[in-house]
Amino acid sequence: MKVLVADDSATSRQMLRAALAKWGYEVVLAENGAEAWDILAEPDAPPMAILDWVMPHMTGPDVCRRVRETRREPYTYILLLTSKNTKGETVEGLEAGADDYIVKPFDQHELQVRLRAGKRIIDLQMDLMKAREELRERANKDLLTMLPNRSAISNALRQEISRCHRDRRTVGVILLDLDHFKKINDSYGHFAGDAVLRETATRLRSNMRPYDQVGRYGGEEFLVVLPNCDLEQASNQAERMRHKLEASNMVVDGIELTISASFGVTVSDGSERNPDIFVRVADEALYRAKASGRNCVSKLTLEDSSHRSAV
Ligand code: GH3
Ligand code: MG
Ligand code: MG
Repeated sequence: MKVLVADDSATSRQMLRAALAKWGYEVVLAENGAEAWDILAEPDAPPMAILDWVMPHMTGPDVCRRVRETRREPYTYILLLTSKNTKGETVEGLEAGADDYIVKPFDQHELQVRLRAGKRIIDLQMDLMKAREELRERANKDLLTMLPNRSAISNALRQEISRCHRDRRTVGVILLDLDHFKKINDSYGHFAGDAVLRETATRLRSNMRPYDQVGRYGGEEFLVVLPNCDLEQASNQAERMRHKLEASNMVVDGIELTISASFGVTVSDGSERNPDIFVRVADEALYRAKASGRNCVSKLTLEDSSHRSAV
C-alpha cells in the first residue's frame, strides 16, 4: 500500500521512509503541505498519509480539511504527526478531519500498529467499493446473455437520442425477435433455449461497431442502438445481423438448430426525444416483419407509423 509522508524536516522524512519501507509500505515523499495536497489530489493518490502538523505553505490540518472538503472517495486515511500534545490541539487536528494522530518523538512500534489500523480501514473501504461496483454492474446486466438488460439498454437509447439530438444526428434503432422460439423450448427443452439465446447474443455482438450497443430487451427480443445511423444504414446493419443468425446452424448438445429472427428498424431524427416511442415504432415494424413471413427486416419511420399521433 502506498503511503504519503509529508514533513518539512529531511531527517524526519528519511526516518519515516526507512521505517515504512521496512514494514512493506511504498513511500511517497512531500516536503511541504502544498506538495502533499498536490499528491493527494491526484486520481491515484496514496490511500494513507502521514502529515506533519507544522509545514510551510499549508499545515497538516489545512491539508486534511482540503482533502475532506474535496473528495469522499476513495477514502484517504490521515495520520497527523505532532509535537503538540495539549488536548485542545489534538482535538483541532481531529476536527480538521484527521483519523488519528501520533505525538513526536514517536515510538516506532506504536506508529507501526497505528498504520496497521489505518490499513484495515482502507482495505475494508476498498472491499466495499468493489462490492458496490459489482452490484451496480449486476443490476445492469442480463445474467443469461451477459448483455445489458432492458433497463440498461433503454438508458443507452435515451442517452444516444439526446446526444444525437444536440449534434443534429440520427440514431438507428433495431428491435429483433427470434422466430418460433417457443418451438425450440418445446422440442429441446428450456436449457437448449437458453443456449440459443446466449449464442444469439454472441453473434449479434460480434457484428457491431465498437460504439453500437445491443441489449436483451425481453425474453427473446433484443434491442440494438446505432448512433449516427440513418434508416438505410440501420436496415443494412439489421440485414447483416439477420444473415449472421441464419447463415450457420447453432449446435446445442450436439443437435443442429436452424435459427432465424425478424427485425424491426426505425430511426430517431431528433424530432422526438422519448425513447419509448422509437421502441414502439420498431416494434410495429417488427410486427410487420413477422406478418410478412419472418426471417426478414422491416423498416418504418415515426411519420409512417401509427405512433405519429401519440407524439
Ligand atoms: P414468433 O416467431 O411469433 O416470435 O414466435 P415465438 O415462439 O418466438 O414467440 P412467443 O412469444 O410465442 O414465444 C416466446 C418464447 O420465449 C416463450 C418463452 O417461454 C420463451 N422465453 C422467454 N424467455 C426465455 C428464456 O430466458 N429462456 C428460454 N429458454 N426461453 C425463454
Ligand atoms: Mg419470437
Ligand atoms: Mg417475443
